[in-house]
Amino acid sequence: MELWQKLIRESVHTVDELVEKFNIDRKDAEALDEFFQARVNPYYLSLIRYPGDPIWLQVVPNKAELDDFDALDDPLMEEAMSPVPNITHRYPDRALFLVTSQCGIYCRFCTRKRKVGDYEKISMKGLESAFKYLEEHTEIRDIILSGGDPLMLTDAMLEKILQRLRSMKHIEIIRLGTRMPVVLPQRITQKLCNMIKKYHPVYVNTHFNHPWEITSESSKACEMLSDAGVPVGNQMVIMKDINDDPAVVKELMQMLLKIRVRPYYMYMTDETKGANHFRTSIETGQKIAESLRGHTSGLAVPHFVIDAPGGGGKIPLHPNYVLHMDEEKIILRNFKNEVYSYKNYADKNNPNGYKTKKKVKSKTKKKAAPKKKQEVLVFEEV
Ligand code: SF4
Repeated sequence: MELWQKLIRESVHTVDELVEKFNIDRKDAEALDEFFQARVNPYYLSLIRYPGDPIWLQVVPNKAELDDFDALDDPLMEEAMSPVPNITHRYPDRALFLVTSQCGIYCRFCTRKRKVGDYEKISMKGLESAFKYLEEHTEIRDIILSGGDPLMLTDAMLEKILQRLRSMKHIEIIRLGTRMPVVLPQRITQKLCNMIKKYHPVYVNTHFNHPWEITSESSKACEMLSDAGVPVGNQMVIMKDINDDPAVVKELMQMLLKIRVRPYYMYMTDETKGANHFRTSIETGQKIAESLRGHTSGLAVPHFVIDAPGGGGKIPLHPNYVLHMDEEKIILRNFKNEVYSYKNYADKNNPNGYKTKKKVKSKTKKKAAPKKKQEVLVFEEV
């Protein structure tokens, strides 16, 4: 058994453990376990500094989850866009492939609770029909392996999936959506990296939410992936009392760049059942987004989006820097609120736009300046 598998086995998981470790009332612990089981592995547990801190909130079940009645199990309508089990095909040229229901921890805000946890939530029997669908749909050029967490599969199992995908000529890129580098970095072994690099181009999207998650272990895991030629991006969710603070997010983004992880998306919390207590206002999100643009490297600025309820996909939500726009100009403000004008030139999309003024030739001849007498330089012999 590898170290990471041993750590999974040692996770806080049962009702008894929840009561004992986190001092949760037994009745609440039972109801929470029924709603969405817990898994806190010893590594992630060791990052908790005090009860209720930003790490604790992400993994320790909270009674507030049970008060959430108006949210949906599947707000992104992944099931409705699932032509065969294990596949969600929302965008024309890419598809989501769910390969396991297991994760290194169970995040209390998870948007896929309906699929995560119990083994039977994602059936391995569905893999064959999913492969067939991908083989037939040659318009799909980009596959995202998710779940659950695809790195919960053994190296051998994951390699079988990668091999099969690589046998499909139309699949250009493979992405792994995994929190393992963050929550169980021991999973990123040299053996795993050596296997993955046989199937390039492979990208990893991981999910850091707070600077405390960047440790020597998680830094090493991300660097090992980068060294294996895997570009690593980060998706972060803005959540109350975890990272709803511009200074925290800026610190996280800057730290990510130092470990060669590129901030990719920053989301508002999905409208998933059990996650109401994590929600923040749009204004808070925009304040955070504004605190990044111009105030730190462009590389540290992720796309700020809402994954639209009802399956609308990711919709950008950037703060408004445009004060006015017409056919001839755009008036903008910069990150310091200074105002600038930029010409809107005419072209096929804007026929009445700004046109370069022609240079007017003057009719009166310019008088030539009188020639200067050439000076003769005399060098004295020394
Ligand atoms: S790792 Fe991802 S899929 Fe698993 S519980 Fe956390 S958010 Fe959900």
